[in-house]
Amino acid sequence: MNVYDVIVIGGGVVGTAVLRSLSAYHSKVLLLEKSSDVACGSSRANSGIVHAGYDAETGTKKAYFNVKGAAMYPSLTAELDVPYKKVGSLVAARKDGLPALTVLRDRGIANGVDVRIIERDEILALEPNIADDIVYALYAPEAGIVSPYQLTIAQADHAVVNGAEVRLEEKVIAIDKTQGGFVVRTEKGEYSARYVVNAAGAGGAEVNALVGEEAYVETHAVGDYFILDRKESGVVRTVVFPLPDERGKGILVAPTADGNVILGPTSRKVPHEQAEENAVTAAGLQYVREGVARLMKNVNVRSAIRVYAGTRTAIGSDFIIEESEKVEGFYMILGICSPGLTSAPAIGECVAEEIATKLTLAKKDSMLPLPASFRFREATPKEIALKAQEDPAFGRIVCRCEKVTEGEIVRAVHSPVPARTVDAVKRRVRAGMGRCQGGFCQPRVMEILSRELGIPMTSVRKGDAGSEIAPYEVKDGYETL
Ligand SMILES: Cc1cc2nc3c(=O)[nH]c(=O)nc-3n(C[C@H](O)[C@H](O)[C@H](O)COP(=O)(O)OP(=O)(O)OC[C@H]3O[C@@H](n4cnc5c(N)ncnc54)[C@H](O)[C@@H]3O)c2cc1C
Repeated sequence: MNVYDVIVIGGGVVGTAVLRSLSAYHSKVLLLEKSSDVACGSSRANSGIVHAGYDAETGTKKAYFNVKGAAMYPSLTAELDVPYKKVGSLVAARKDGLPALTVLRDRGIANGVDVRIIERDEILALEPNIADDIVYALYAPEAGIVSPYQLTIAQADHAVVNGAEVRLEEKVIAIDKTQGGFVVRTEKGEYSARYVVNAAGAGGAEVNALVGEEAYVETHAVGDYFILDRKESGVVRTVVFPLPDERGKGILVAPTADGNVILGPTSRKVPHEQAEENAVTAAGLQYVREGVARLMKNVNVRSAIRVYAGTRTAIGSDFIIEESEKVEGFYMILGICSPGLTSAPAIGECVAEEIATKLTLAKKDSMLPLPASFRFREATPKEIALKAQEDPAFGRIVCRCEKVTEGEIVRAVHSPVPARTVDAVKRRVRAGMGRCQGGFCQPRVMEILSRELGIPMTSVRKGDAGSEIAPYEVKDGYETL
């Protein structure tokens, strides 16, 4: 049996942050993820906002990790080469909204955040398309935008480069407590570890139940979104929120770190069984349209190129980040709803530090860097010429909308956490994320996956098991029918 110091369950932004931080120590660590890729849960489908930190109640874990995490983003994303921009955020209010903004401002100040209330002239200078009746806003210049799945993938890749292991399509189905730690069973194997970290998101309560830990009551709320074509990118410059209400932060309008515009999310309660379905509803999308119209002018929702939904999992009103009192060596990071993306790097660092101290793991002098990336769409003609000379595949465009080359796709398939599906390629290099949504490049991406993985075209999947895109050859298909 493979023996580890720590096993992390769940390859979201939290689990991969813990794994990466643990790989900064001399340690043997493993991450088990049930899906075909990391970043397949909440960390795939969210707003991608690095919140400044005025929203969470002072003194909570949410407030502490939000502020600490946000401060880590500039250097972390530079180190991991992940799209991130500090664009600032506005909470927009009408005439009667000043008292509520004042509460948020005071909370922000108490949390140590740079925030101030600004009036219409200043708002207009930041956001020329703000709705006519918005007269006040809470301005937080430190807020940012990030690609949540690229961050999750980069954290996992960086951990692997530094000696960690990631096993995909391995759902944890049993955990036995032993004298020295745990034996963790998946559908494919058995692994032992001195410590186990439960970062399983919506599956967290089920994983808790495997060791007899508390079955926390989780609530799940779906958020529906529109993504607009890049040509709309000038319509908004900062992250624009309405005043929050009891359901959450409300419908926002913001640029994305990759140059699109994001509108949403709703907050629709769903039962546990639907927590991983992530389907949009027509009513949800209509609610987004109406929310946007109250906040901004000139937002052309008809330029949407994609709709999607993601599900938040909450337990009570704060994050749970603690070692179990019942089961020694079992660490729980649960109920990580918003601002979980913002908080994740700080949570990862803190949990890794605590575990390293308990297991007396020594810190490495330094971490190995990720291999240098190449993005055709960001490169200069000279850089492209040099790269294509080195390897002509970097001169062959496959995704025309996002200008992604064959070389970038091949590299994604052979990256530290390899892309084995069309969606995994898409999340790494953006092939299929543009206006045509893969209509043009998907067959070509499938051919490359088939060639590089040595599998027939009929076995190439969109995502998880059962999602083969072309499961029959045409003739066989007719025969089968
Ligand atoms: C609509 C929406 C908007 C949001 N907006 C923001 C935002 O703008 N800013 C912000 O800071 N936060 C935001 N959040 C919150 C943020 O997305 C989450 O806090 C964060 O992604 C949680 O990460 P996680 O790793 O805990 O969970 P997940 O990303 O869900 O990862 C958990 C992983 O565990 C795996 N898993 C489950 N069970 C098992 C098992 N038995 N064995 C193996 N693997 C298992 C799952 O497949 C999954 O990959 C938003 C969330 C949503 C849904």
